[in-house]
Amino acid sequence: MPIYLPPLSRRRFLAKLAGAGAGLALGAELLADTRPVADNCWALLSDTHIAADRRRIARGVNMTEHLDQVSRQVLQLPQRPAGVVVTGDCAFNSGQVGDYRVFTSLLEPMRLGGMPVHLTLGNHDSRRRFWEVLPEEKRAKRPLSDRQVAFLSFPTANWFILDSLEKTDSTPGLLGQEQLHWLARALDAHKEKPALVLLHHNPGITGNLGLKDSVALFDIIRPRRQVKAYIFGHTHVWRVTQDDSGIHLVNLPPVAYVFEKGEPSGWVNATIENTGMRLELRCIDPLHNAHGQKVDLRWREA
Ligand SMILES: [Zn+2]
Repeated sequence: MPIYLPPLSRRRFLAKLAGAGAGLALGAELLADTRPVADNCWALLSDTHIAADRRRIARGVNMTEHLDQVSRQVLQLPQRPAGVVVTGDCAFNSGQVGDYRVFTSLLEPMRLGGMPVHLTLGNHDSRRRFWEVLPEEKRAKRPLSDRQVAFLSFPTANWFILDSLEKTDSTPGLLGQEQLHWLARALDAHKEKPALVLLHHNPGITGNLGLKDSVALFDIIRPRRQVKAYIFGHTHVWRVTQDDSGIHLVNLPPVAYVFEKGEPSGWVNATIENTGMRLELRCIDPLHNAHGQKVDLRWREA
């Protein structure tokens, strides 16, 4: 598994809070989530950049408030998504233990709402310090000992979650030979359903922004026709394009701040069908002109 946080049981959570003397202050968040589950719907998040200090502001944005707002939006959907994915840059800048303590606490309402959370890491994360905060999850068996890769099988698609963190606080990313070999083998073993590849870094490398081994990655995914989409964050820009072979390139918006004024912060509600995927942009600012924008992707031929 990559970093996988299962849904939380309310009973266990309450016992933990009581044990910590925290009282029962969470109220509404602990009400049972009785929404029907949409098992082909996913909340796709990226670049949360959560700091140990919940009041911290960067580029005019309080990152804690942004993730808290996304969590409330996800919990208010009429149907409960099958899960939540965060494609890296979970932590503010250099992946400090305090950042991860706040980050994981901000994920708890969604986990209490019955949704698992799948995480991968970006260049502002630290693998070692993340595990310090989640020692139990660290013990879970994983395909690769170091990188946090995962294969997840769902009724309408198989997901391949990759880990492109090469060096904390150094902008470009790298998958490396071992991980690329794992991906090729895993794709060859699972040809029957559309495959979605998720990682933090954008494809291609311009200056020092992007994935260093993009060519090697595309050499693997282009000929394997079951691969339909490559989903990523990192650029803090919301954009959907397609490569020459028909693979959809989905650049998720940041939950946190944008680099260019006017770009949206937010997340994407993804609905995966047999022949494609519908993406709906949910902005932090509901008055943003892109809020609610829908993009329908059709899968390339197998
Ligand atoms: Zn980022």
